[in-house]
Parts: sequence; structure tokens; C-alpha cells
Amino acid sequence: MIPDLGEEEAQAAAEAIRSGWVAQGPRVARFETEFAATVGAEHGVAVSSCTTGLHLALVLLGIGPGDEVIVPSLSFIATANAVRYVGATPVFADVELTTGNVTVETVDAVRTERTRAVVAVHQGGVPFDTAGLRKAAESWDVGLVEDAACAAGSTVYGQPAGAGARVAAWSFHPRKLLTTGEGGMVTVDDAESAARLRRLREHGMNVSAADRHAAKQPVLEAYLETAFNYRMTDIQAAVGLVQLGKLAGLVAQRRALAARYHALLAEIDGLVPVRDPAYGTTNYQSFWVLLDGFRTSRDEVLTSLAAQGVSARRGIMAAHLEPAYADVTPAPLPVTERITRESLILPLHHKLTEADQNHIVEVLRTLA
Ligand SMILES: *Cc1c(COP(=O)(O)O)cnc(C)c1O
Repeated sequence: MIPDLGEEEAQAAAEAIRSGWVAQGPRVARFETEFAATVGAEHGVAVSSCTTGLHLALVLLGIGPGDEVIVPSLSFIATANAVRYVGATPVFADVELTTGNVTVETVDAVRTERTRAVVAVHQGGVPFDTAGLRKAAESWDVGLVEDAACAAGSTVYGQPAGAGARVAAWSFHPRKLLTTGEGGMVTVDDAESAARLRRLREHGMNVSAADRHAAKQPVLEAYLETAFNYRMTDIQAAVGLVQLGKLAGLVAQRRALAARYHALLAEIDGLVPVRDPAYGTTNYQSFWVLLDGFRTSRDEVLTSLAAQGVSARRGIMAAHLEPAYADVTPAPLPVTERITRESLILPLHHKLTEADQNHIVEVLRTLA
């Protein structure tokens, strides 16, 4: 992933600096409103990263020690880590082979009476089936957090992914479609949750620093609970506002490049590229390919591609295989382990040319 940052973003950041307002201020407020509107949410609360956003989402749902939270192991490790931040226990659910996402069935298989929440991921931009899982979570009386780190510009049932979520967390890390350097957003539909999230990201203060500075009279703030400093800066938000204007174009370009990959890769046996699920569309944040009876092993494919100047990456990681989670013994996760060992992510970025794609596919053809 190469971020699409240009002169416009540089100008916007410079203007924020010249304005003198560099901490959380008017640009953050505008970015929140415009981002929420783009993803079909009522409220956006900007934070310092998706990871801190997931942390706040779990605090919002009242998750704590003794609680179990079901997460996919097949995700960036931050998804599971956020559960530990609130002192709860992550419980790993398997995923389905086609989307890399948890389903009602895989979540239900590891559910216990201690399950208080599920963090479901729209993995690599491929949305999970929100209709099924939201309904199931409600019927089980467990909270549902949507890890939408990669989902800006994806759709589910004709709506933006994350729209209608109880709470969703988004990332603006440079490896995602939209970037602010570092940064994140939490979206919710109710004003009360938005107000609580605003307090939680700002030390538990009942008046934001921005409002305090804008007030004519001295404002005596109160600190209502022990909270965090998870704010975004106005410099980041200035960049984010420009990036947001590029989203539709970026997604269209990625989907065109993905369609071209599909056409070229169809001629090679043993490779199964990620596709749109039946109920939605992916932004192709990650264009992953599953090896299915391919002659060459995944690691040899990566090595051969690298030798030909192609920087493909291993597939999505599995948290339960990392030393940080060595103390966890999950239920069998056969699909997760298959995807993480047998998949790779092909280059897909705004500078990728058709000639690059032809070259990548030619190298793969020699390995088939
Ligand atoms: C990138 C990513 C995160 C972490 O995002 P940050 O903004 O870097 O904290 C969390 N979950 C998933 C699924 C991700 O891909």
C-alpha cells in the first residue's frame, strides 16, 4: 500500500500549522462530520488510531475483567490487543474461507455464558455479513464492535460498510486507503455514546479543550471519569479532509485494477483471488490470493516475486500464532491457519500500472 498523498494534503497541513491551532480543534470537528456522513453514521469521534478507537469502543460497552470478547484471530493483532486493554479475555473465532471474516456460526461455536461482546472485522476491506451478525448479537444480548479499520469505501447491502453499526472503529494509518499519518475514528448513531466517547478520548473532561478556548467566560471543567488522551490533531484532520475527497476515486481505481487481476489470474490454476461477497463490495484494501493446489509453496512464491522486484506480502496474520498470545489455547482454527499460511497479498496501489500487473502475473505463471 502506497499512500496517495500529494501537494493538496501538504498545503492543508501547512494551513493548519499557520492557523496556530494544531491540537484538536475546528478541523477535527469538520473531519468528524464529513467522515460520518461518508460512511453513513450519525456521529464521528476522531481518535489517535483505530487501536485506541477499539479500546474506547469496548470501554463504551462496559467490557472489563472477567468478560470474554470474541474476535477473529485472523486480523491485525490490534483487534485482540484492544480486548486485553480493558482487562477482558479475547476468545478466538474461526473465519470463512471466501471472505476471511467471522460468521454467525463461527462466533456461536466459541460463545459461552461469559461472552459479553464480539469484535467483528471487515477484513482487508471485505465486509462481513452485517445483517446476520448484528441480529445474532442482539439475540444473544452481546455487544458488537465493528473493526472497520480497512473498510472505508466498502459496501454491505447497498450501504457503506459500518453504517448502522452500534459502534465501529476506523483507521487512517498509511497502510489503509485514507491516511492522516496516524489516526482513527469511532462512529456511532446515538448522541449519548458520542458524548461519552468525546469525554473518554479527552481525559474524561466534561468540556472539550476546543470549547473551553472558544468560550468568552472562564469555563471550569470537571473530570467525570478516569479516561485517556486519544485525541487527533488538527494537522491530521486537515490531511484527512483532503483524503476524504479522494475516497470514491481511490476505490474506483482499486476495483478496476482488481478486476484486471481477476481476468489475468483466471488463466492460472491453483490461485483463488479475493472477491466481492454476495451481499456487498470490497474496496480491495488488500488484494489477497489463496493458494489452492498451487505447485509452489507460499513462501517460495514470495521469494520468487521479490527476486523479480515484486514486493508481495504474506497473507493476513493470525494473532493466536504470535508469542504475545502463546498463553491462549483456542478452539481449532483450521480456516484461519489455512488462510494465514496459504495466502499472499499482491501489490495494489494507485501507482500500479497495467505493465506492473502483467509482470506480476507472468512471474506467478512461471511458478504454477
Ligand atoms: C490496521 C488495523 C488496525 C489498527 O489500526 P491503527 O490505526 O494502526 O491502530 C486494527 N484492526 C485492523 C483490522 C487493521 O487492519
